[in-house]
Amino acid sequence: LSTKQLSVQELAELDKKYFLHPTTAPKVHAEQGPKIMFSEGKGIYVKDMDGNSYIDGVSMLWNVNLGHGQKELAEAAKEQMEKLAYSSSFIGYSNEPAVRLAEKLVSLAPGDLNSVFYTSGGSESNDTAFKLARFYWELKGQPKKRKIIALENAYHGVTIAAQTATSIPNFHTFSSSNISDVFHAKPHLTNCELGDKSDPNYEGCIRDIVEKEGADSIAAVIMEPVQGSGGVYIPPDGYLQAVRKLCDEFGILFIADEVITGFGRTGLMFGSENWDVVPDFLCFAKGVTSGYAQLGGVLIRQHIRDTIVQYEGVLSHGFTYSGHATACAVALKNIELMERDNIVVNAKNMEQVLADGFEYLKGKYDIVTKTRAIGLLSAFELYEDPTTEKPFDVSVMAAAKVGEECFSRKLLIRPIRVGEGKNIIAIAPPLVINKQEIEQLIAIIDDSISAFKKTL
Ligand code: PLP
Repeated sequence: LSTKQLSVQELAELDKKYFLHPTTAPKVHAEQGPKIMFSEGKGIYVKDMDGNSYIDGVSMLWNVNLGHGQKELAEAAKEQMEKLAYSSSFIGYSNEPAVRLAEKLVSLAPGDLNSVFYTSGGSESNDTAFKLARFYWELKGQPKKRKIIALENAYHGVTIAAQTATSIPNFHTFSSSNISDVFHAKPHLTNCELGDKSDPNYEGCIRDIVEKEGADSIAAVIMEPVQGSGGVYIPPDGYLQAVRKLCDEFGILFIADEVITGFGRTGLMFGSENWDVVPDFLCFAKGVTSGYAQLGGVLIRQHIRDTIVQYEGVLSHGFTYSGHATACAVALKNIELMERDNIVVNAKNMEQVLADGFEYLKGKYDIVTKTRAIGLLSAFELYEDPTTEKPFDVSVMAAAKVGEECFSRKLLIRPIRVGEGKNIIAIAPPLVINKQEIEQLIAIIDDSISAFKKTL
């Protein structure tokens, strides 16, 4: 950092002038500057530059799984940086942390997901899976198998292919940059929303596309085991298994986007394990380093690897930071700490505490409903009248308002407004959270909903 001390106001002015922020309204930001400037953190807490302490109720971007201020992760990074911060992994170059991490990831991954391709984040991981899926079919002599089926309401990232698979409206359409050959099927949530959880044909919407387009043109289906940014939708039991079966029936590869659900978030190491499904590609990022370093990747099943390693040309895909030595060293330490401190078990155990808190809120407030939690990935919804599912008028901005009330009480949550009238509050705290801290978090939400109700 520069030697000159800068006040928060001075930094805010520089921010307004020089920093074009992602997923932020640029005009508002250029006028108003940053809402908060973080300076330090410990466990589930983060502090701003004025010293105010906030509970990080959504692990920043669902990624700080081990919580903030983990010195051992900093030490792992320092140690590796001092030794060898970075090496290429192109043209046969390699480094120890990348190799050790690959072995570790394979040992943790379900089924025969037996090798890994490294990236620097989630979008790159999904793009990589699309390209490897298409490449696989080319090698299998079926180059026409190119189409990708994703789900409505999905979030897969913002690189051009990932943004095309994403279907959240403004992200999907941003800068009209979409690729061709990507289709969207109605997700399970349609059936859930209709209340028909016994419908055995959850995957029917995908089947319709397969039958219409022809299986010989379809490379892969991609989905998040639990839709995250779209609103935290936990699929009904049987859904993922049914999609896996459908993919097997038609010779289609199954890509699980575990960028949020990976690394303990759902109470198991990987989200797919909740339904005993082994995807052909498992895309990860975020929690692999708890956000302490930029790393992502794709775990690949044996049969795909076997096909790819028969190729005698160059695999002309890769990122400068694929297999980044420091990022991989941080990931190794992150996983070691998760195992040492039983973090995944804690996430599973805390699910009930969070669910109980939501039940309490639901009982107390006639606007709270559809509470759900799997591990520490959770949400509830706000309706003007939950019994008839009458939504709040869009102008009320219910989720955003409750989010602001929480913010003013020093709790960070994720308000999500999906389409007309859907108001979802997502909660996904660091997996190190304990019972008392969850109770504290619920108490703040309680006060925030109460304050919001007074404004109605
Ligand atoms: N996939 C999912 C499910 C995500 O939630 C995200 C980010 O939130 C991404 C992909 C994109 O990851 P990144 O922002 O690291 O590119």
